[in-house]
Amino acid sequence: MSETVVIIGAGHAGVQAAASLREDGFAGAVMLLDAQTHKPYQRPPLSKAFMKGEAAAESLVLRGDDFYPQKDIGLRLGARVVAIDRASRAVMLAGGERVAYDHLILATGARPRPFAAPGVELDGVMTLRTLDDASALKARLATASQVAVVGAGFIGLEFAAVAAAFGHRAVVVDIADRVMGRAVSPVMSEAFAAKHRALGSSLLMGASVAEFAGEDGRLTGLRLRDGRFFASDLALVGVGVLPEDALAREAGLAVENGVVVDDHLRASDPAISAIGDSAFFPNPFGAGRIRLESVQNAVDQARCVARRIAGRPEPYRATPWFWSDQADYKLQTAGLPIGVEDYVTRGDVASGRFSSFGLKDGRVVVVESINRPADHMAARRFLAGAPLTREQAMDEAYDLKAHAIRSPRP
Ligand SMILES: Cc1cc2nc3c(=O)[nH]c(=O)nc-3n(C[C@H](O)[C@H](O)[C@H](O)COP(=O)(O)OP(=O)(O)OC[C@H]3O[C@@H](n4cnc5c(N)ncnc54)[C@H](O)[C@@H]3O)c2cc1C
Repeated sequence: MSETVVIIGAGHAGVQAAASLREDGFAGAVMLLDAQTHKPYQRPPLSKAFMKGEAAAESLVLRGDDFYPQKDIGLRLGARVVAIDRASRAVMLAGGERVAYDHLILATGARPRPFAAPGVELDGVMTLRTLDDASALKARLATASQVAVVGAGFIGLEFAAVAAAFGHRAVVVDIADRVMGRAVSPVMSEAFAAKHRALGSSLLMGASVAEFAGEDGRLTGLRLRDGRFFASDLALVGVGVLPEDALAREAGLAVENGVVVDDHLRASDPAISAIGDSAFFPNPFGAGRIRLESVQNAVDQARCVARRIAGRPEPYRATPWFWSDQADYKLQTAGLPIGVEDYVTRGDVASGRFSSFGLKDGRVVVVESINRPADHMAARRFLAGAPLTREQAMDEAYDLKAHAIRSPRP
């Protein structure tokens, strides 16, 4: 009997899962459901080329219009799933319709973490996750006179860099002591902080927002806990995301920081899998579970689940990688900075072209590069295979590419 796979969420993970099922020869029905009404699109450009006006919304689509009918993928937009009935293996849509499944893939992504400060509801205080968010933010940026950013993470800093390209001197506020502090090494944080300062942004680190001030419902400025006030008519709040795991929780699945899955990305009900930003999975490179927010993770987890459903199960072990573009600095990371004891650099930090290698037990476990794509590509390969030592990492004459080739292809 032909089986049905239902995928909730047509983001990077869901669309890839549908595509990979067909590539892997799955012949049953594939239903791809998403609450939003835009054709499935890429998110990374929302804070980069789209925000800068260099890429139109239509260019962000993940797949062309023909793709879904050609692959016999039942894409349904405007289809919000409101409940999962595990006993009868069906999902319920907002309109009351039931859609039956044999396998259910949760690819529901994440949403901006709420920021609890007085005035957060004022007109002019915004978040960035969806194409609609990005369109609204871009329109406001065109008329804003003073831009503020709360959160010096990837999205906040990418937006600050775009704002600078339009002539703004953004005020960036973060409670942490260094930019992108949870994700990158101190030397990388310092290089990016210097870049943003050179672009004209003020980085207020170790500072926190006490309130957003407003008049007639519109933002007029930010007051910090130390009493300082900064006038602003546009504030982007980028303080991280929370996994969209309410459906799973309400269906009685194990949920912690996202949907708990095993090393094959199966939820606590084996007919259900979770992938992408919403999945809390066993970390193949360290103890415990993690959740990753990256296109690589969404796409590779989708491929892993599709292969299992198509009859070729294997555990998820992909090497994580990520990128972020801020002005003329392209950051690329490979591996995870878990348990890193210290970092060494390769290349000239002052020139803005260098890599930082994080070491654990004498072995490189994470590589961060600014404008050194060859280091990044080599790292994606050697991190999955041939160990790299401190001395090899620091020695510019040591051939990383040749070293990487000795590793198995990921
Ligand atoms: C502005 C921005 C810039 C980024 N830049 C980078 C970058 O440079 N590099 C990088 O690697 N990553 C980047 N990311 C992160 C990356 O986009 C995410 O990791 C990726 O989108 C995760 O894919 P996903 O499919 O898990 O979730 P999503 O892409 O969020 O898709 C989830 C989908 O599920 C749908 N959904 C949720 N609940 C329901 C429901 N109940 N019923 C129906 N549909 C539902 C949502 O509508 C959504 O379309 C960026 C993200 C943003 C927002």
